[in-house]
Amino acid sequence: MKIANGLVVGVDYKLHLGDGDIVDASEPGSPLYYIQGAGNIVPGLERALEGLGKDDTKQVIVTAEDGYGAHDPQGVQEVPKEAFGGELPEVGHQYTARGPEGEVVPFVVKEIKPEVVVVDLNHPLAGQELHFDIAIREVREATDEEKEHGHVHEPGGHHHH
Ligand code: ZN
Repeated sequence: MKIANGLVVGVDYKLHLGDGDIVDASEPGSPLYYIQGAGNIVPGLERALEGLGKDDTKQVIVTAEDGYGAHDPQGVQEVPKEAFGGELPEVGHQYTARGPEGEVVPFVVKEIKPEVVVVDLNHPLAGQELHFDIAIREVREATDEEKEHGHVHEPGGHHHH
């Protein structure tokens, strides 16, 4: 079975940003599962895996535009120090805030100035070219429930809605 829209794919991956330093990877024996065409993974990677089959391997380079998007300068903002409630954040660390709808908004602290903290609301991988080492472990039909939900229910995984 070859990877095509609507099929469930189990994939082992390693991600680096061009310098070979691995920044993210699947756990050994625990591939990432996604549904092809459902937008579960970045679009450039999804497109590059189309047509591959079990045990195929591939190196994929995804541009920032087809990955986590360009880095948006508007996402870099200054926040009053008081917003952190007396405890200063650490530069380079990722934190989360609550958006207007109660949604979780992750941000990275870029710099601490005398009055303000400079934060970046962009995805930490925005603006980055993504280098994936890919090994396809499984390709199968989605169950009716998975099709309905638009995501994979992993074998043995606990899944609540
Ligand atoms: Zn579900």
